Amino acid sequence: MTSNSNPNWRVHLLREADFALDGGAMFGIIPRPIWEKTNPADEGHRIDMATRCLLVENGNRTILVDVGIGTRWSDRHRDIYKIGDQDPAFESALSAHDLTPEDIDDVVLTHLHFDHAGGLTYEDDNGDIQPSFPNATHWVQRRNFSWAFSPSPRDAGSYRKEDFAFLHRTGAPPLELVDGIDELFDGIEVIPCHGHTFGMQLVKIDASDATYIFLADLIPTASHLRDPYVMGYDLQPLVTVEEKRDILFRAQKHDWILLFEHDPNTQAGRVEFDEKDRPSLVELQNPPESLHGLET
Ligand SMILES: [Zn+2]
Repeated sequence: MTSNSNPNWRVHLLREADFALDGGAMFGIIPRPIWEKTNPADEGHRIDMATRCLLVENGNRTILVDVGIGTRWSDRHRDIYKIGDQDPAFESALSAHDLTPEDIDDVVLTHLHFDHAGGLTYEDDNGDIQPSFPNATHWVQRRNFSWAFSPSPRDAGSYRKEDFAFLHRTGAPPLELVDGIDELFDGIEVIPCHGHTFGMQLVKIDASDATYIFLADLIPTASHLRDPYVMGYDLQPLVTVEEKRDILFRAQKHDWILLFEHDPNTQAGRVEFDEKDRPSLVELQNPPESLHGLET
């Protein structure tokens, strides 16, 4: 959908933290000798990951898409997930844009798994949980918000209610529950997917320089493009396969730039298909200015 107004969105990638997850879980049925060629495992069988989020702004409105893993972690869990250098609430990344967490107008959450929503809050000096982005409207699919409060036993470990329960508190920042495909703002559309978890949403941005699609956990890294490369975490793996193909074909047809939330090295690229319709990535060698972002 186009409109007469031109929002002139600029897209920046922000890296909130490094962490690591079990390589076998990340690659599902793919044998380790294959996946470890591109994603080597450490002594704990974990592969390197990033929590990467988007800053979308046009001088009038400032939007974050996902907020990383956050700081409310015990030493034990920091060790399990190998949580590395962090930029809490993106403070240093935002300050490079002359912004503070208070300046964020909207937080769009792809879903409420802890590595996407953990940064919504922080613990203050009294041990109370406080919103990291107190002035932001928080957008999430209604179906995911509902599922996150009562997930299945299989995925309960991926949702921590303390990450998002504050949104029900009196005086909490506003919450907007989204139903299905929606254009949240002129040129910013959310596309629901249900294979990874129920009510995840991808975010597509018609920016001033290109159209970007933020893939969340549909295609967490550049190593997950092909059909069978589906995470063991996914609740409906065959649905993920269909959703991936659909998004990748549309991306190729419409020249969307893929943005990877969890790839430790590859930020962005375009997809192409071989004669057997197998996708591969053409990494952006010279990312547009807006994509240089604050990745370090
Ligand atoms: Zn997830």
